[in-house]
Amino acid sequence: MTTTLTLVQGDITRQHVDAIVNAANSSLLGGGGVDGAIHRRGGPAILEECRRLRASLHSDGLPTGRAVATTAGALNARWVIHTVGPVFTSEEDRSELLASCYRESLRVADELGACTVAFPAVSTGGYGWPLDDGARIAVETVRRTRTSVEEVRFVLFDARAYEAFAAQAG
Ligand code: ADP
Repeated sequence: MTTTLTLVQGDITRQHVDAIVNAANSSLLGGGGVDGAIHRRGGPAILEECRRLRASLHSDGLPTGRAVATTAGALNARWVIHTVGPVFTSEEDRSELLASCYRESLRVADELGACTVAFPAVSTGGYGWPLDDGARIAVETVRRTRTSVEEVRFVLFDARAYEAFAAQAG
């Protein structure tokens, strides 16, 4: 099955999809940026499930490049898939970890049976990844990943991010 890639400029917490991907941090206990917005709009059920995950499967936190699902609480979605992007540094090439966020999120989406998945531009905010390169990795990785997801929707917060993704998506 082919996966349709769509680009939208807007707020990911307003999307009606099966799964919303969160650019989380390894603690899974909330943060700023898209993470803060998802927890604010999704309500406490998401954080409660994150706490349970920390107490059971991920006592040391979720490793960078991995993904895990919780309820989506009050969001217009069935699940939130939390993934931990790498912090950008010019000293080391962490591209593979960023690609892994997209691959692992899609693997979790497949396990859940999610047909539509919304992604933010992982790592391009507080974690400092250059936007054009983050967009390239996102688009290339999703295109190369075998998945049953029917629509991957990149939800870009501002015009600059939208343009960066549009340039990659062609
Ligand atoms: P990270 O720590 O992985 O860099 P951030 O949340 O700081 O995560 O930023 C990731 C991207 O998400 C940035 O491009 C930022 O502009 C964008 N962003 C922030 N809030 C939202 C939102 N509500 N919807 C969609 N994208 C958002």
